[in-house]
Order: sequence, then C-alpha cells, then structure tokens
Amino acid sequence: MPFTGQLEDGRPFIATLALQAHGTGVVGDGKQLKFWIDPWLSTEPLKYKFPSLFCLEQDKRCNVADRIPDCNGSHAVCWNWKHYPATEMEIEELIQCHRLLSNVSLSKQVDRWVWRQEDGDGYSVKDARNWIKGEVLSVNNSVYQWCKWIPNKCNIFMWRASLNRIPTKDALLHRNIYVENGLCGLCGEVEESVDHLFSGCRFASGMWDAIASWCNIPRFYVFSLSDVLLVLNDLPYTAKKKDIMYGIIIIACWRIWKARNDKIFNGSVSSVTLLVADVKSLAFLWFKCRHKEGCIDWRNWCNFVLPVM
Ligand SMILES: [Zn+2]
Repeated sequence: MPFTGQLEDGRPFIATLALQAHGTGVVGDGKQLKFWIDPWLSTEPLKYKFPSLFCLEQDKRCNVADRIPDCNGSHAVCWNWKHYPATEMEIEELIQCHRLLSNVSLSKQVDRWVWRQEDGDGYSVKDARNWIKGEVLSVNNSVYQWCKWIPNKCNIFMWRASLNRIPTKDALLHRNIYVENGLCGLCGEVEESVDHLFSGCRFASGMWDAIASWCNIPRFYVFSLSDVLLVLNDLPYTAKKKDIMYGIIIIACWRIWKARNDKIFNGSVSSVTLLVADVKSLAFLWFKCRHKEGCIDWRNWCNFVLPVM
C-alpha cells in the first residue's frame, strides 16, 4: 500500500499532509504541533504568515511548546533566533506575531487536529480518501526533469537525491548501517538528511543566497529538496533563463554533496565562497561546451548576462 511512511518525527506522512492541507491543529500541551510548519493559529502556517521571522528561526521544526513554555499562565515567548529581528519587516512581523500569540495558553491536553469546516461539510472518510489518493498520485508523478546541458553524473546524482536514494546518514541509519554520528557532514549541527543538506544546512542557504544574487533573482527560501527543484516554477523568466538556472541549481547540489564527501572522507574543509566559485566556473565550462547557444565570455557569465535570453 502506498499510504504508509513516517515523517522524521514519527508522524504518518500522508496523514500529516492531509491534515496540514485540510485540518487545523488545536493546541493542548504544544508537544505535537510544529510551531512554524503546522496550521494551528490560523488556517495558514506561521512560516507563510511571517516568512522573515521564519528565516531567522534556528530550529525550523520546533514544537509549539518549545516557543511557548508552560510558565503558570504567562505568555512569554521563548524565541531562538539566528539574530534578533532588526529590519523594519522583521520587527513588523514580530509585533503581529506577538499579537496573535497573546491569547495562546497551553493546557495538559494532548494536541489534536480538527477537519476544517470550510472544506464542505467537515470531515468525511470519503473526502480524506479521495484527497489521499490524489496526493499520492501527485507525489508519485513528480518526475525528475533532466537538464540537457549538464553532465549525466550531475543529472543522475540529482535524480537519485530526488528519490532520497543517496547515502545520507539518516538513510544509512534507516537501513541499519553503522555511522559514527548522524549529524550533517558539512555543518555538524543537525541530523543529516537530503532535505537538510540541500535546504536547511547553512552551507546550502549560503549557496542559494549567493546564487540568487549572481543570477539577479529574488532570494528564495526552501525547506526541502523538492522545494529546491521547483523554486523556478513561479518565477517570471523565459524558459531559456530558467533552463540555465535549473542547471546551475543542480550543479550546486552536486557540489554540496561533493564537499560533504570531501570533508567526511578526506578531511578537507570547504567554504560557501569556494563552493560558489566552483559552481560558477564548472557551470561556465559546461554551459560553454555543451549548450547549443553557449557562446559566452567569462565576464558576461560572472554578471549573468547571457546570450540566449
Ligand atoms: Zn548541515
């Protein structure tokens, strides 16, 4: 049956997706609901309501109880920022968020989910089953899109990563293979998984910031590898520009994985600056040699002024 599987915190995968899409969390002791990720204060998760604050959060998968500890009815919020909100946008979001949280108090009850009333007549097994069938179908249909101008080794790597078939530490542990510790091979701070390595890791986010700035696109925030692969979908650029940026993103992922292996197996430490420089030069070489319109000089490539756009 395809309707099985668990998230890393043990919650059933598809059931959680269904509830996140059509349910609302009712907070009790705050130990089950994810503060930023689950819809619990409103129908929209806080990560979408307050994206600037979410960007500053150190532990993006924290529970409600991590942020609102039970302090005898006090509403003190226990934030864990990378740095304290400072920009106008961040401060504005913080004020609004405090306003929303001011009425929240935890109880001894276990957190629970309710089916949203506005979705028709409330919960029905038939609706849930139809949704699950549709969702599983769309998950299985998310086929990796090959990029023609980059080498096969990068495409094959990315295809395997998109299926969670690369030997990350969580995948090895899942298969009962011994690893010294399960922490990320690059930052050493968080459990290593495909989603962490290519989205949550500070190396990856540094890479995405640098690449966005190089390609003159808005900074993007990704929370999983599938987010990374789909990030260009909604951007208003020509198909050619998207094709080039897609290739660059795949090369960046491949280079992150290579840096992770170099550090684990050879002890060589890399930096975001070096990785980005590598991505730029490798992408230049491959674009120039393999793309049918790859006639470009290094200076234009560095400024992302491309002849094919
Ligand atoms: Zn990491």
